[in-house]
Amino acid sequence: MVRNTPTLQHSNTPSPLFSDYHTHPQGHRTQNYSQALLQPWIESARLAGLTDIAFTDHDRYHSGVDFGEIDQLGERNPDVKIRVGIELDNDPESSAAGRKWIEQHWDKLDFVLGSVHFLQRDDQMFDTVPAGASQFEGRNIDEVYVDYFRRVRSIASTGLVDCLAHLDLIKIHGHRPNAEVEAIADETLDFIRARNLAIELSTAGWRKPVDELYPSDRLIKLAMQKGIPFTTASDAHSHVQLGENFDRLAQKMSMLGIREVSVYEKHKRIVKTLKR
Ligand SMILES: [Zn+2]
Ligand SMILES: [Zn+2]
Repeated sequence: MVRNTPTLQHSNTPSPLFSDYHTHPQGHRTQNYSQALLQPWIESARLAGLTDIAFTDHDRYHSGVDFGEIDQLGERNPDVKIRVGIELDNDPESSAAGRKWIEQHWDKLDFVLGSVHFLQRDDQMFDTVPAGASQFEGRNIDEVYVDYFRRVRSIASTGLVDCLAHLDLIKIHGHRPNAEVEAIADETLDFIRARNLAIELSTAGWRKPVDELYPSDRLIKLAMQKGIPFTTASDAHSHVQLGENFDRLAQKMSMLGIREVSVYEKHKRIVKTLKR
């Protein structure tokens, strides 16, 4: 594996990618939405050449989301489409409240991501770096993968998500199954297609130990065969990460033959063809 690949961020060739559908203005704590919190994200979006972004804070911080503040932000920044979203995960403690909040605000939300951050342990996300790697110790990795994708299907089946986030997050620490990953994930991709959901292409994997796009090229190809649509995403937890490595992502998409990106308005998918 090639490590330390140079970042092509903000290079001279502008990326044709224009949308970032996985962002966390609140980071990892509840911070009430305000113009002061959100405006820097718009400035960074402009710098990165993005014209369509979705705020998708973790559902456990839903109390910080303020629809009025987002409306006001949109009025101040008519050149950037701002979508209201949330990332619903399988947190054994908070996700029941998160689901309820999504149900209550469904008509106001544009976009909901579904994620699996928890395996057997209730008290630690497996994608915590590096501590979460201990959850894999001594375990059969194929079984861990099967269990993970079962949980992805469970989130997909809630009827409360539009798109699955970081589909193969389970590889984050570099653990690989012995079986073909296509065989393990095939049923899940069929499930996603049958429910007309999208998956994201997330550059976040390039800043994690695995140093690989989420999902892998093999899973992207399988998703393409099944006709699953894609969003583009950075999973930014700071506004400076918006659109991170999108030039590199654009190159990969071009190589794989992906020419369409999905955006969402009130859960309605709009497919955009990329400019060359
Ligand atoms: Zn996530
Ligand atoms: Zn996230």
